[in-house]
Amino acid sequence: MSAEATNPAVSPAPAPPAAHRRKGRPRIDLRRLGRAALLGPATRDRLPDAISHVAEAHRAHHPDADLEPLRRAYVLAESSHRGQMRKSGEPYITHPLAVTLILAELGAETTTLTASLLHDTVEDTDVTLDQVREEFGEEVRYLVDGVTKLEKVDYGAAAESETFRKMLVATGNDVRVMSIKLADRLHNMRTLGVMRPEKQERIAKVTRDVLIPLAERLGVQALKTELEDLVFAILHPGEYAHTRELIADNAARESDPLAEIAEEVRGVLREAGIQAEVLIRPRHFVSLHRVSRKRGQLRGTDFGRLLVLVNEDADCYAVLGELHTCLTPVVSEFKDFIAVPKFNLYQSLHTAVARGDGQVAEVLIRTNQMHKVAEAGVVALGNPYAAPAEDQTDGERADGDGERVDPTRPGWLSRLLDWQQAAPDADMFWSTLREDLAQDREITVFRPDGGTLGLPEGASCVDAAYAQYGEDAHACIGARVNGRLATLSTVLRDGDTVQLLMGQDPASEPSREWLEHAHTPAARIAIQRWLATHPSSTADEPDALDAERKDGAPAPRPAHDEPAAPSDTANAVVVADQPEANVRLAGCCTPVPPDEVTGFAVRGGVVTVHRVECAAVTRMKGLGRAEIAVHWGDTTEFRVTLVAESFQRPHLLADLTEAIALEGVAIVSATVEPPTQQRVRHTYTVQLPDAALLPNLMRAMRDVAGVYDVARPQHQAATP
Ligand code: MN
Repeated sequence: MSAEATNPAVSPAPAPPAAHRRKGRPRIDLRRLGRAALLGPATRDRLPDAISHVAEAHRAHHPDADLEPLRRAYVLAESSHRGQMRKSGEPYITHPLAVTLILAELGAETTTLTASLLHDTVEDTDVTLDQVREEFGEEVRYLVDGVTKLEKVDYGAAAESETFRKMLVATGNDVRVMSIKLADRLHNMRTLGVMRPEKQERIAKVTRDVLIPLAERLGVQALKTELEDLVFAILHPGEYAHTRELIADNAARESDPLAEIAEEVRGVLREAGIQAEVLIRPRHFVSLHRVSRKRGQLRGTDFGRLLVLVNEDADCYAVLGELHTCLTPVVSEFKDFIAVPKFNLYQSLHTAVARGDGQVAEVLIRTNQMHKVAEAGVVALGNPYAAPAEDQTDGERADGDGERVDPTRPGWLSRLLDWQQAAPDADMFWSTLREDLAQDREITVFRPDGGTLGLPEGASCVDAAYAQYGEDAHACIGARVNGRLATLSTVLRDGDTVQLLMGQDPASEPSREWLEHAHTPAARIAIQRWLATHPSSTADEPDALDAERKDGAPAPRPAHDEPAAPSDTANAVVVADQPEANVRLAGCCTPVPPDEVTGFAVRGGVVTVHRVECAAVTRMKGLGRAEIAVHWGDTTEFRVTLVAESFQRPHLLADLTEAIALEGVAIVSATVEPPTQQRVRHTYTVQLPDAALLPNLMRAMRDVAGVYDVARPQHQAATP
């Protein structure tokens, strides 16, 4: 037993209240858990008091759970750890109990909790893995084994990369091992104060570099935010104290703009008859610190976000529609993570609304189920090995259809295991993994075919190419971002649409310079592997399509245009119900007769007209905006702007204008942008005698040698 037990005078624990210091009075308060632990084995078949909290939390999520394995695991853990003390002087068993309580509160299933109670027994006591298997089964043994192995690699850093790699493979296909590891780290971080400062700092750094990114990847927001704040307090004590002051000052203020907006939102939803709970979620320390660094000055609404909880998926969009109609939305803040969930299972609608005084409140809208997953991530998914209810044949898992997400292999984990196989050596795997883990968040980009790619923030078109095509990306020659040609070095943003242009030449090679723009391990490893096997490749020759990078000039970013840009030819008028209405052809889809069209009222009494298949139409309908019937006027004569993308060659302009003239179409204006990287963009505004001629014209232009695309502009035309 520890010194504390025999000599209370040198106890590091805070002095007990006066009443307890009276002579001869046993200090039962501090020993309550330990005593309950001692009573455990004696009260056979009854749940020991020490795990009543765990049992309660577990039953709250799983009312039918069998608590017997927990009781047995507790009894074994307690008896084998008996006599061991934590640095704080508490009996060791308080640690596995606390870890298990964290997981139980997140909704983990019984097997995980059983393994969690036992997670330090094999490492620190006489209990063997065989014994765990005999008493609790193979699954619990597997989890305990995984945690024990992970325990050993944590402090090893790069020198033990080979070990780390083995560990990931050994445990990587079961996220429950990682959940236990995260909860274990959280409890150790909570109780880190008893350690020497250097040790605190070292543990905090590993937590920051490895464990927090892991929590993010597994979607366990609740653990991630608390770990972040604990690390922040240790590594940046000054800024931590300052943030704490800001929060205290704000709490002391008389008026709370967030509370006022919340009340307004409640009123709006009540009137609309939507059942919803509107809560204020305070930002955690680190999040507030980030906002204050970004903005300089904090506003009252920055201290938290509004959380709107509803019952059904469809209610999320109904809430959004009401907020966007009745309050002033900040449209650029809108993100739909329900239709396009993030890689880590997170689902929510994000938006922001502004008040008259300019204060902006961020709003998260989700169902109660989405909220559970947002907080607990993979832990909330339950037992990943349990077969779905309708499919319980011999315990075989039905995940072969590619539709269902395999909770034991979230996208990130699958990719990790793939790189692990591709990496030429362990050091490289480890260093690329650390880099990848160090990236804060993921972005989602769209492919033209409607698919999506999840990439780390800061990823470029090179990363997108390798994410989509694997090693075939060696043949990538360029990309379009949001409809415009872009260099492969272009850094992508959340929500960008990326089309990768693949060369037909089988001898296409990746450029050494791509490495500078590759952020993901998948791209890095593939390029390095190619370079290693082609040592004499044309490394000095600048990539024809990417010459711009040579001088270090940043690639111009294609703009994100709002869908309602004013358009060319509004005089070929579209008539709405009100002939007086001011009509605008949408810049996103540039409608031309005989396109089927529809309209939406926008601010200022203007009606914007889109092609019915335009993505903006779906989005606006989703927001509950009413369509306005519109149709084309009598004119058949029509002006249209066309953009031809080509590879530069002599006589291109002459050949293109000739092709247009041969179709009987007059050119109103033409601009040719200076060629960049051997590509050139011609923009023509032409007068069509009949709008029906348009498809033929576009085909004829595409047939001109060197032209690889002719399209109506995605964005406002360059010519007036
Ligand atoms: Mn532990």
